[in-house]
Amino acid sequence: MAKKWVYLFTEGNAQMRDLLGGKGAGVAEMTRAGLPVPPGFTITTEACNAYYASGRQFPEGLWEQVLEALKVIERETGKRFGDPTNPLLVSVRSGAKFSMPGMMDTVLNLGLNDETVKGLIAQTGNERFAYDAYRRFIQMFGKIVLGIDPERFERRLEEKKRQVGAQADTDLTAEHLRDLVEEFKRIVEEETGRPFPSDPYEQLRLAIQAVFNSWMNKRAVDYRNFHKIPHDLGTAVNVQAMVFGNMGWDSGTGVAFTRNPLTGEKELYGEYLPNAQGEDVVAGIRTPKPIAALKEDMPEVYEQFKRYAEMLERHYRDMQDLEFTIERGKLYMLQTRSGKRSAAAAVKIAVDMVHEGLIDKAEALKRVEPEQIEQLLHPQIDPRAKVQVIARGLNASPGAATGKAVFDADRAEALARQGEKVILVRPETNPDDVHGMLVAQGILTARGGATSHAAVVARGLGKPCVAGCEALQIDLEKRQFTVDGIVVKEGDVISINGSTGEVILGEVPLIEPELSPELRELLSWADEVRQLQVWANADYPRDAAKAREYGAQGIGLCRTEHMFFEPDRLPLVRTMILAAAEATALDRAVADLEAALANPRPDQDPARLQQQLAEARRRREASEAWHAYHDSLRRLEVIQTEDFKGIFRVMDGLPVVIRLLDPPLHEFLPRYEDLLVEVTELRLKGDGAELAEKEKLLRAVAGMREANPMLGLRGCRLGILFPAIYEMQVRAIFRAAIAVQAEGKVVKPEIMIPLVGHINELRVAREQLERVAQAVQAEAGVTIPYKFGTMIEVPRAALTADEIAQAAEFFSFGTNDLTQTTFGISRDDAEGKFLLQYVERKILPQNPFQVLDRDGVGKLMRWAVEQGRQTRPDLEVGICGEHGGDPESIAFCHELGLNYVSASPYRVPVARLAAAQAALARPLVAHTA
Ligand code: PEP
Ligand code: MG
Repeated sequence: MAKKWVYLFTEGNAQMRDLLGGKGAGVAEMTRAGLPVPPGFTITTEACNAYYASGRQFPEGLWEQVLEALKVIERETGKRFGDPTNPLLVSVRSGAKFSMPGMMDTVLNLGLNDETVKGLIAQTGNERFAYDAYRRFIQMFGKIVLGIDPERFERRLEEKKRQVGAQADTDLTAEHLRDLVEEFKRIVEEETGRPFPSDPYEQLRLAIQAVFNSWMNKRAVDYRNFHKIPHDLGTAVNVQAMVFGNMGWDSGTGVAFTRNPLTGEKELYGEYLPNAQGEDVVAGIRTPKPIAALKEDMPEVYEQFKRYAEMLERHYRDMQDLEFTIERGKLYMLQTRSGKRSAAAAVKIAVDMVHEGLIDKAEALKRVEPEQIEQLLHPQIDPRAKVQVIARGLNASPGAATGKAVFDADRAEALARQGEKVILVRPETNPDDVHGMLVAQGILTARGGATSHAAVVARGLGKPCVAGCEALQIDLEKRQFTVDGIVVKEGDVISINGSTGEVILGEVPLIEPELSPELRELLSWADEVRQLQVWANADYPRDAAKAREYGAQGIGLCRTEHMFFEPDRLPLVRTMILAAAEATALDRAVADLEAALANPRPDQDPARLQQQLAEARRRREASEAWHAYHDSLRRLEVIQTEDFKGIFRVMDGLPVVIRLLDPPLHEFLPRYEDLLVEVTELRLKGDGAELAEKEKLLRAVAGMREANPMLGLRGCRLGILFPAIYEMQVRAIFRAAIAVQAEGKVVKPEIMIPLVGHINELRVAREQLERVAQAVQAEAGVTIPYKFGTMIEVPRAALTADEIAQAAEFFSFGTNDLTQTTFGISRDDAEGKFLLQYVERKILPQNPFQVLDRDGVGKLMRWAVEQGRQTRPDLEVGICGEHGGDPESIAFCHELGLNYVSASPYRVPVARLAAAQAALARPLVAHTA
């Protein structure tokens, strides 16, 4: 006996998604629950796979089972397929396990031909309706199944309307439509070289084949590759008796969500079109009415629909996206599936459902994507700003965006690659536009409703979208749109507000959003379950305050060099750098002689040493560079002390990891190439004084040039070569800590040395800096609890972590550098160049600077954690590279048993949720520290 390839809707259920696809399982479940679903059947995903296995042939028994199932539908509906007096018409839809763009669109009204159309007239008594259904069928079938350019039909339709002076489609009479049917059939024959297939069974066979074929079309394959969906899942095919939403004004069709997908509010949200077929709503061709209008138009149907919606939501314990059709006052449910939603809605729905007793807290935490949370923290348009609103559309996806108007997806992609911010403007979007939507700041369309392609995709991507802004007259050829006499050309800056639907000319000021009460509650549940602490990378008091507001439990990285870049400090920093080498040599000469004098060797004459020391001191005193160096350090110390005070005050009671100066010093100086040009120009002009100055600078900069600065004189190497710089920083840290402690606050500084590769580097730095720390505390007569530790950001440090831990009370993985040095890839040179290709060609699974490379970098980390904790069981271990804010990397840090992850302030809430999800997925036994 042949395998079972076909399931009636009455035979399936919600658990059979693998076999019946999402749609098939959904309608089967609704049928079981007793909802009014037009009868139908589903051809399994296994049949699709068997079709490919046998070289695109129907597997044995499939067609016979389809015919059997059709008989059952005929019995249930009392109609017959191909019957010229009382014909059964069906729809054919694809439906894979996951809803996927790129698959085949729905074919409606299948079964119509010159004979059965007469039966449809007899059934309905409505000739116009019947011919309209027939011409739509040929059009859809021609486009979807036979692959004919839809423009051919559209143009013909428009011509017809013009010919007969019709404004809308609805102005066409039965006769006009009958003519169109003939003309459409001619188009099919011209395009395919064969007459339009009039046999309903052949129509059905071709449509089923087309669904199977669409599984392997390029768009679908690309989408699966991108989302790592296996290619052998196959798609199911759903064949269902037609019901008609276009049988008059007591008919209609619509789409609705059980809760508002923008805000999460518990209310029916959606739209419907009276006297229309389903595709009219989805395609966004006519702008539909809000679902509330149904309450006015057909109150009983509305109440019934509302009841079903509630029932389905309770049944699935999730917000549902429903499709329905009303045929002459009778409601039919066509589809239910879990609805796509904005980030704000995802949070609100999850939290509300816990309060409603539908789901538990753990389930709520799993239902929100950590990445979605960041969208909620994105800036909004400052409500006080004066903006020039030029048009209004639907508020289809929340948030605000500013960028250059661009009119096609390829162009958007090209500009975005050059670092431009763009807004994609289209009449409407379809799956071919997705690559442009991915890179755009926001999306603006002239047509389509809140459930149009643009709206649904934008919400999924978390991008602002204004849809259905009908006032825009878009001219794709001229690359511009016009509204109210204002012309916006490609490249002109516009803004959109996806929360209000406004389209604004020019750039707009943006402001910080607040955490909603629901988000706060969800994050508090996350805090109950997570085992990782979440700290923040913050360089300024204002960042620290933001981080704390978002729930950070410490500062994991304060990059002190950022303070050096402030415009009031840069001149001091430059002076310091240019004088550092000379001043340090002079200091060292004095120090060496002092040491020799304190403990002279037998061959040394103390009197002579005394003389040499006096001479060294005199030389030092006479050196301009030496004075400049120490003077700028003293002034920088005052400034840094104030910076640190600000941070300690904000972080009262929480640890603050301060990293001493890290970048190569030339980053603070003018570029060598720029200086060279300036000096050359001055030489030509013969400008004496300025020339001498610039030449000196050029010499200094030339002397500090490095072939490979990221591997050059930076990190702890700087601190060792120019000890006064780190000493100044440590003094500033302790003076600030002492002052803030005296204000009654609790300070917990942690001093972090960057780029250590060898234990001796850390030993030297620590010995010298502890001396300073002790001296400052002794001078003030107070003690400050502090820790001393290091970054682990070169492989050697990770490999010798057992030794390093002897001199470090904490480790912080600097995975930006650790990734660079482990791969031997310079991030600045690689990203956007070969690394992009590597990821596209799957040589690397992901960009390792975004998602931590578990197998390489991760292995070093695991080793370092184990070895470090063997030496020092209470070693505190965290991560402060950008991976500390990436959910996948956070899960890995959880598995390694780190104490904390440190992320930028905006990602702190993301990290809190990601850490909770990691803990729910893999609870750990508590580790020691
Ligand atoms: C790192 O290397 O991961 C790090 C945090 O330091 P930076 O990015 O400042 O080099
Ligand atoms: Mg680093």
